This record gives sequence, C-alpha cells and structure tokens, in this order.
Amino acid sequence: MSDKVRVRFAPSPTGYLHIGNARTAFFNWLYARKNGGKFILRIEDTDRERSSAEFERVILDDMRWMGLEWDEGPDCGGEFGPYRQSERLNIYKEYAFQLLENGRAYNCYCTPDELEKRRNELLTKGIAPKYDGRCRNLSEKDRVRYEEEGRRPAIRFIVGDGTVEVDDIVKGKVFFNCSTIGDFIIFRSDGVAVYNLVVVIDDALMKISHIIRGEDHLPNTPRQILLSRALGFSVPKFAHLSTIVGYDRMQLSKRHHGISIGHFRKEGFLPDALLNYLSLIGWSPGGEEEIIPLEDIIERFSLERASKGAAIFEPDKLRWINGVYIRNMDLEKLADALIPFIKKEGVDIEGVDRRWMERMVDAVRDNLETLENVSEYIGIFFGVDINICKKGMDVLKDNGAVDVIKAVRDEIREVDSITQDIYIKMVPSIKKRMKIGGKRLFMPIRVAITGKTKGPELERLFPLLGKDLLLKRIDKVLDHVSKNL
Ligand code: GLU
Repeated sequence: MSDKVRVRFAPSPTGYLHIGNARTAFFNWLYARKNGGKFILRIEDTDRERSSAEFERVILDDMRWMGLEWDEGPDCGGEFGPYRQSERLNIYKEYAFQLLENGRAYNCYCTPDELEKRRNELLTKGIAPKYDGRCRNLSEKDRVRYEEEGRRPAIRFIVGDGTVEVDDIVKGKVFFNCSTIGDFIIFRSDGVAVYNLVVVIDDALMKISHIIRGEDHLPNTPRQILLSRALGFSVPKFAHLSTIVGYDRMQLSKRHHGISIGHFRKEGFLPDALLNYLSLIGWSPGGEEEIIPLEDIIERFSLERASKGAAIFEPDKLRWINGVYIRNMDLEKLADALIPFIKKEGVDIEGVDRRWMERMVDAVRDNLETLENVSEYIGIFFGVDINICKKGMDVLKDNGAVDVIKAVRDEIREVDSITQDIYIKMVPSIKKRMKIGGKRLFMPIRVAITGKTKGPELERLFPLLGKDLLLKRIDKVLDHVSKNL
C-alpha cells in the first residue's frame, strides 16, 4: 500500500498558519515521507468573504520556510488539479445535482430567518437543534408557491437512519447516531458549495488515502462518510489529531500570545527546531529523548503513536529546543541566519570582517534561545559606550570590585595585544594579587567590559574586543563609578 499513500493539507486561507494547523500539515507531510507517498496542498477558499490571496501567499510561504514542500498544489499543479477550491465550483455543482437526481438530496426553501426561529424554539425547550426535514417531501404546490415568492432553494443531503462508525487511527472506533445529525445543507441558496460536500468530492477525486486533521473535524466525519457512500466513492482512512491546548488548557487561539508561524519566524526560531517541537506535541517517539533530528522523526513516525489526549503547547520547551538547535548549528549558517537580526539593531554587520563576525557568533550562541535574543548581546561587541544594567551597578558597588577592575586594566596595559591565552594567564595572576576568586573576581570584570552580569565567556570576549576597546571601556566604567557611587 505504501506507494498509494496520498495525504493532503487543506488550509482555508482565512487566517495565518499557526501551531495547530502547522502540526496538521507536518504530520501529513511526515506520513507521506515515511510511506513514500504524496503530500498534497489544497486551498479551501470557498468562503469567498473570509478568504484572501494574501493569507494563501503567507501560508505557502510559511510552509516552505518550515521545509514542508508539497508534491501537488495550487502553485505547482499536478494530475488532479486545480488545487484551489474556488476553481472547482463546476465540479461540485455536478455532484450536487447527481445527489438530487438520485434522490439522496432535496431542495430546501426554508429561509435563514425561519431556520433560526425554529432552532431557537428547540433550544428553549432544551432540545438539541436539528433540521426537521420539512422540505424533504415538499408538495409540488408548495414548491411552486415558494418559487413564486422568489425563494431560492438550498440543497440538503438526506442523512437517513442508523449509525455511522468512524474507525479512526488515533481515536479508535467512534459511533455517531444519524438521528442526531439531521439533513444538512450541501449547497447554499446563494450557489456556494458547502465544506462537507466539497471536501468529500476533492478527497475522492484527488485519490486521498488518509485524512489526517485536527479532532475539531471529527463531528464532520460521519457526514463526510455518508456523502462519500452516496456518491459511490470509497471512504478514506481517518486520523484525528488531538487538539493543542494552551497552558490554561483552553484551545489555542489568539488569546495565547504568538502562536502564528510568522511570529515564530520573526522571533528567530529555526524551522527544524519548530518541527522537532511539533513532533513532540501529539506524538510520542517512544523514548525519553526530546532532540530528534528530522530524518529520525520521519523514520520513527507512526499515526498509531499519536496521542489520544489533548496536547499542551509549552512555549518554554520550544524555546529550550530552539536554543539547542542554535548551539548545534553549523557556524556559517548560524552567522548568515543572524545577519538580519543584527542589522535590526542598527549594526552594519556586512561591513565587519566575516571571520571576526563568526567568532563573535560562536561566542554568543550559547546565550541564545532565539535568533532575536542576539539583540540583548550585540551591543557588547561594538563601540566604547555600554549600558550598565541595574544588577551590574550592584556588582560595581561591591567591596573590591573597583580594585579588581583596576588590576585587570593594569594587566591589559602590560601586553601588546590580547589573545585567549593571555587572558587565561591573566586571571590567576589577578587572583593571587587580589586574593579573591569566583564570582567576586569575574563579575566585576564582566560588568566592566559588557555592562551585564551574564553573557558570552570572558576568555572569548577579551580577544574579540581587543586591547584598545577593553581599556577604553574600563576607563569609562571607572570614571562612571568614581562620579556616581
Ligand atoms: N479547510 C479545513 C480547515 O481549515 C480543513 C478541512 C479538512 O481537513 O478536512 O480547517
């Protein structure tokens, strides 16, 4: 069966790609790659009012950025196109008429106002609302009357009796009683085909073998199975992924700060780190490890191991994973990736010697959880002026801090230029002279040359900054301290 796996990601371009639908896209992609199948991108833009070309563009762009390339789609075409639903309207019409002709659907003349009124009546009586089927056996007389009133019919699908079983790969067997569903609209009176119909037609015509999507679509599944059968299509396999919830256990939404992929991109998350994290939410690799290279995820992925319970989105864990990827990244690539973030801080980084820049990146990378974090440290490397943070000022007030800084200044003055070795030798000599070590020794030095209490290792910073700059900064700090403390 492996060569027949065809899965699809079917976003509606009514919003940005976010953690939830990105995971759906990723799991489809993984399933295709794992099974040597095809990954299809289909744009579900039948809701013309809410869809926009701009959302579509951004979704495609974000997917490319994540590396989730598709085999067939609106941009690259394919055997079963078009892949944008707005370009397939005639196909949907044809099948809706087929259902009408076969007596599996009927014209419904009820107006939205009437439906709303009846719905509310049921709700006040505490009854779950469902269409009462009154147009199913409409007399010719009533039909003509409605037509004369100028009503335009919607098309409703006849649900019938019985139970629909969904044998879901993730959720197991789920049963739906048809009596709770009620005949539903498949074509609106304004001529717009409805989601459940179009999705069934497209999945069948595009030969989709597995539908992997969020569990919020599970209630649609019995409707889609009934439609598939009525249209004579074979029913694909289903896998409904658990909803991703926030720290407050509520479904992820805009209330949860920054869940769009664009936001993660802007903050400087790495696509592979994001994919690694996404693989951990809603799927269990079967071991303890959390850093899993993409090739291993593909190799080990199975829908059977997708979790049945809600998956919690933990931004801190994502940041931690991203930090690990930054630490392990190829230096040249990391330097390139950091350029836009450094430029944003007003530094003309392209005018800087590339080898020096890479040394700087290497020195700072351990401190970064996102690429954007570089903004906190970039000031350390350029210019004489540094801002001394509040904690830094407290360090400078400590007994002995000024003496340590003066001792370092004296040592630096003695040498022609600063190398890592010189710095390493300098430390014990100061230690001996001042008779202090540990934090009381290193903190004043760090604050004097960076203004901060944390940051890159001093033995890397010293040679990067060089004798002149170090001395100028130290003089300024000592001057500042004598005037202010
Ligand atoms: N277009 C639907 C959505 O954005 C997905 C439909 C499906 O996967 O069946 O939620």
